[in-house]
Amino acid sequence: MADTPWHVLGAGSVGTLWACRLARAGLPVRLLLRDAARVNRYQQGPGLRLLEGTHETTFALPAQTAATEEPIARLLLACKAYDAETAVASVRHRLVERAQVLLLQNGLGSQQAVAAALPRAEVFFASTTEGAWQRDDGTVVFAGQGFTWLGSADGAPAPSWLNDLAQAAIPHQWTPEIMTRLWRKLAINCAINPLTVLHQCRNGELHDHSPQVTALCEELTALLQAIGQPDAAHDLHAEVGKVITATAANYSSMYQDVAAGRRTEIAYLIGHACVQAQRAAVPVPTLESLRQALLQALRDKGLPTN
Ligand code: NAP
Repeated sequence: MADTPWHVLGAGSVGTLWACRLARAGLPVRLLLRDAARVNRYQQGPGLRLLEGTHETTFALPAQTAATEEPIARLLLACKAYDAETAVASVRHRLVERAQVLLLQNGLGSQQAVAAALPRAEVFFASTTEGAWQRDDGTVVFAGQGFTWLGSADGAPAPSWLNDLAQAAIPHQWTPEIMTRLWRKLAINCAINPLTVLHQCRNGELHDHSPQVTALCEELTALLQAIGQPDAAHDLHAEVGKVITATAANYSSMYQDVAAGRRTEIAYLIGHACVQAQRAAVPVPTLESLRQALLQALRDKGLPTN
C-alpha cells in the first residue's frame, strides 16, 4: 500500500539517498537513528541534505529511535553489513507480522543472517550500482547514477512496493536471480578491491598485476560453479577486465575505506568467499593468501579485521 511508511534504518549515504527520493515522491518516510542524542542533533538541523549535480535539496523527515513504539511494516535496512544483525535486532519487536524488510548491504552473509533472525518477515535482497558519499558537513552527494536489482532469496513473487520505487524514480528491476547478481558482484569485488589496497593503486593499475587477477578469477569461477552459481561465474575473467578498464581512474571502495581509516566490509566480501570455499572444499590458495595479506594490512593500520 502506498501509505505504508518506509522506516529507513541507517541515515548514512545510501539511506539518505533512498529516504530523500521516496519522500520527494510524496511517500511517507521515517528515519531510525541510533539514539536520542542523534535524533536531537538531527532535529536541531534542517534535515537530510542531498546534492544531485549542482542541485541541493533539504528534506525535513521525521526521525525516531528504535525505542519509539510505532509498528514497522516496511523496513529499509541501509547500514553497513557488519551492523545489519544488531540494527535489525534493535527494531525486531516493532515489526508487524509479514513485515517487508529490504536489505541494501553489499557482499553476502549479512542478508542470510538477518533473514534467519526474522523468520516471520518477508525479506528482500538488493544489489545496487548507485554511488553516494557523505561530505564532512553531512550532505550526501549522489555521485553515481546506477541501477538496483531486487529479489527474494526464497523465490517470493515481486512485491507491490516496487510501485513506490517507480514513483520515486529509483531505477530498479525485480529478478528471480538476485543471488546470482549478488555473487557476481562479490566475485568482481574479490578480484579487484583487495588488490587495490595491497598494491595501493587505482583500479586501472591492476592491468600491471594481471597474473594475480587471472589466478583469482580462475579460483572464483571454480568456487561459483561448485556452489551452484554457474551464471555468476560466466565469463568472469573477461568482465573483471572490462570493469578494471571502465573504472581505471577510480580508487575502489575498499581502498577508500582503508585510506580514510574506516572499517571495511571484508568479512562479507573476500571473507565470505573464503568461508564458502572452505565449506564446499574448493581450493582457493590465491584468494586465501590475498585475504591473509589484506587482514595483515588492516592490522598494520589498526583497523578492525571483522
Ligand atoms: P554509511 O554511510 O556508513 O551509512 C550507514 C549508516 O547506518 C550510518 O549512518 C550508521 O550510523 C547507521 N547505523 C548503523 N547501525 C545503526 C543502528 N543500529 N541504528 C541506527 N543507525 C545505524 O554506509 P553506506 O555507504 O550508506 O553503505 C550502506 C551499505 O550500502 C553498505 O553495505 C555498502 O557497502 C552498501 N553500498 C554503498 C554504496 C555507496 O555508494 N555508499 C554503494 C553500493 C552499496 P553511524 O554513523 O552512527 O555508524
